[in-house]
Amino acid sequence: MATFTQDFNTESFKGKVSFPTGLFIGGEFRDGGDKTTIDVVNPTTGKVLTSIPEATAKDVDEAVKVAQKAFETVWGLNTSGAARGDLLNKLAQLMEKNADELSAIEAVDNGKTFTWAKNVDISFSIATIKYYAGWADKISGQTIETDEKKLIYTRHEPIGVVGQIIPWNFPLLMFAWKVAPALATGNVIVLKPSEFTPLTALRMCSLIKEAGFPPGVVNVLVGYGQTVGQAISEHMDIQKVAFTGSTLVGRKVMAAAASSNLKNVTLELGGKSPNIIFDDADLEQAVGWAAHGVFWNHGQACCAGSRIYVQEGIYDKFLQLFTEKTKNINVGDPFATGVDQGPQVSQLQYDRIMGYIDSGVKEGATVHVGGKRHGTEGFFVEPTIFTDTKPDMKIVREEIFGPVGVVIKFKDEEDVLRQANDTVYGLAAAVFSKDINRALETAHKLQAGTAWVNCVNQLHANVPFGGFKQSGIGRELGEYALHNYTNVKAVHVNLGHRM
Ligand code: NAD
Repeated sequence: MATFTQDFNTESFKGKVSFPTGLFIGGEFRDGGDKTTIDVVNPTTGKVLTSIPEATAKDVDEAVKVAQKAFETVWGLNTSGAARGDLLNKLAQLMEKNADELSAIEAVDNGKTFTWAKNVDISFSIATIKYYAGWADKISGQTIETDEKKLIYTRHEPIGVVGQIIPWNFPLLMFAWKVAPALATGNVIVLKPSEFTPLTALRMCSLIKEAGFPPGVVNVLVGYGQTVGQAISEHMDIQKVAFTGSTLVGRKVMAAAASSNLKNVTLELGGKSPNIIFDDADLEQAVGWAAHGVFWNHGQACCAGSRIYVQEGIYDKFLQLFTEKTKNINVGDPFATGVDQGPQVSQLQYDRIMGYIDSGVKEGATVHVGGKRHGTEGFFVEPTIFTDTKPDMKIVREEIFGPVGVVIKFKDEEDVLRQANDTVYGLAAAVFSKDINRALETAHKLQAGTAWVNCVNQLHANVPFGGFKQSGIGRELGEYALHNYTNVKAVHVNLGHRM
């Protein structure tokens, strides 16, 4: 068993953090089958923060067996919803107690600022767990009338062992979105965090144990996608896989599920969300939201409003104000007060973003603001705006997942709807206008799972979130997510004396 220990002496957080790491199987931490480790890098410095035990495909097998046993003996149909809700509430309380520590771990591991981690990631994770704690004793089916003498009712039963694979951009939040509805409905879990940001998930394992969840109900294995992720996706005894990540990998997960046991699949994938600003928008508001839309979480948000469409009458004024706003974004140490943007998560991600910036320049777009590395160490990228783009450029079509936006002029509703919907993605979209009819008509015509009017990036535990088109299958959050984790059984009871 390994331990992560770090003394924090920062403006935002002071204190010693120390917790066990490793494969969390059956309520205990252990080494991986091959005794290999994964280096976890601090993106602010580019230096190794810690090394943690790496799981293998064989370890997935072991975790599935342990989870199945827990399902059959202490969880699933052997618990009451009220008991599961109590445990989830206890977990939320422990997270509240350790909120500063969780925020510090997230900031040092992912690079997001301590303040954002605390105010968004950690508090939204807690809200999500509390929300599903409330659902745990309210999972019920229906009675259905027919014209025969029968009692027919449905039961919403837990699926069993569910596999969950999550990304690095909101490590704890994606963990909460996944485990909370699955546990509330009585499933047992084998979860793989991203190998880039495993630390908050591992800290949560200790809290899950402390809250009193029976061993084997939640199992967490850090490993690489091609090994552990693939093993989860194709495992014959995992009946459902829930994946959040890129569309490219989502395809692989679905293919593996299809070619193994045809397991149920939900996918939360990438996006290239349009943000439409009409002539009659409140300009100051629109500028602020647009900056938040594209630069929040350093642009590493699946719903990032990275295509900003501005109507021609206000284009110049918008660009001037948006430029000022972008230049004022304070990039730096995630633990320093007043910093808005920390580093990107990894060298790989930094290189990908710089590659996209290069491609934009090569294809003839103008770097209006930014475009360069920030500082000399770590993975910092300047907030960047491109103008003079063409619809077929890579920076307009592909998800960059960094602080890079394109500002595009449009003529009227028809023109902007054609451009906004001209994408394989359909995760989110935003519209700014003071004319509510125009705003809603546009919102309804946008092909996206979420449409924001006069705001962006708004998410709530009780509101569904997910994609149209290649942005995904299924919905997370809200009552909708419960359907991902239950099998519906129809029971027919013959009340007559017929054959
Ligand atoms: P990614 O697809 O590279 O990795 C996601 C997870 O899948 C990681 O845990 C990774 O190890 C694993 N993985 C990699 N190869 C695999 C394979 N062959 N089989 C199974 N698992 C495998 O994504 P990322 O770079 O970690 O995250 C960024 C992406 O996630 C972006 O595209 C973003 O839009 C998306 N995302 C979507 C949402 C949403 O709710 N729609 C939320 C957050 C992030």
